[in-house]
Amino acid sequence: MPDLDTIVKEIADEMRARPDRGAVASYIPELARVDAGQFGLAVIDREGRVAAGGEADISFSIQSISKVFTLTLALGMVGDRLWRKVGREPSGSPFNSIVQLEREQGIPRNPFINAGAIAVTDVILSGHQPREALGEILRFMQFLAQDSGIAIDETVAASEKRTGFRNAALANYMRSFGVIENPVDYTLGVYFHHCAIAMSCRQLATAGLYLAYSGLHPLAGHTVISAERARRINAIMLTCGHYDGSGDFAYRVGLPGKSGVGGGILAVAPGKASICVWSPGLDAAGNSHLGRIALEMLVKRTGWSIFGV
Ligand code: GLU
Repeated sequence: MPDLDTIVKEIADEMRARPDRGAVASYIPELARVDAGQFGLAVIDREGRVAAGGEADISFSIQSISKVFTLTLALGMVGDRLWRKVGREPSGSPFNSIVQLEREQGIPRNPFINAGAIAVTDVILSGHQPREALGEILRFMQFLAQDSGIAIDETVAASEKRTGFRNAALANYMRSFGVIENPVDYTLGVYFHHCAIAMSCRQLATAGLYLAYSGLHPLAGHTVISAERARRINAIMLTCGHYDGSGDFAYRVGLPGKSGVGGGILAVAPGKASICVWSPGLDAAGNSHLGRIALEMLVKRTGWSIFGV
């Protein structure tokens, strides 16, 4: 196998030369302005060695990738009681779907669809002011990425707040069942802001290391969560991390991963590496088009799929 630096650089070059890019998310006006011609990839291992290609240091809107980290935080705060408010099954519906909530008494199917992530955010918010909860999330990201410069893109947060009618509907609907306990505006405010955190591939790959190494963040020298919890979060990423494209992602890539509509994908190769790829053009399921293709190539060339070579 050629060395990882070469593999990553080759993939980045191939991706940047491709004409097919997908379409940037248009329902959040600020995201619609992003140039679809960008591509970045970063792979980081236990020792902190980074193989990076393309625009791996450009910040982008992490969007739903933040849901992995809010899930980690909420589990740390309330433990398995979290599962009273959110399920662990793939939804098979679009990320912003409301229909299942009616059938299931306001309990979202999993923490990675919007409704589930809003319910998780509400748990983090309980007993705190929105500012404190948001500060907690941001500091957690800075710690995991080992970079105190990570910040929220307020323009993206405001853009989402202005247009987030569907998320407001989901939150109000859950509130009517008592699944959301805080004022809906507060919960949504925190949710929109953590989705609007801006990070680069290198920073996100660093932040995901604890999931690749059984809860231990090797660079921070800190156990973030237990090995059992890391394993379970990875399981939910594998089954639910790509909206209703999760089955196809498992089939093609075979790694736990979480995508966001900003075009990022965080993927975890347990015991091997933490990976982040970014290309803003999305496929029909809302996942990065070139990001998925790049990960498919990476796994083929490294043999890292959790299902074997
Ligand atoms: N903040 C976005 C929303 O709620 C997240 C969507 C995503 O990345 O899936 O619409």
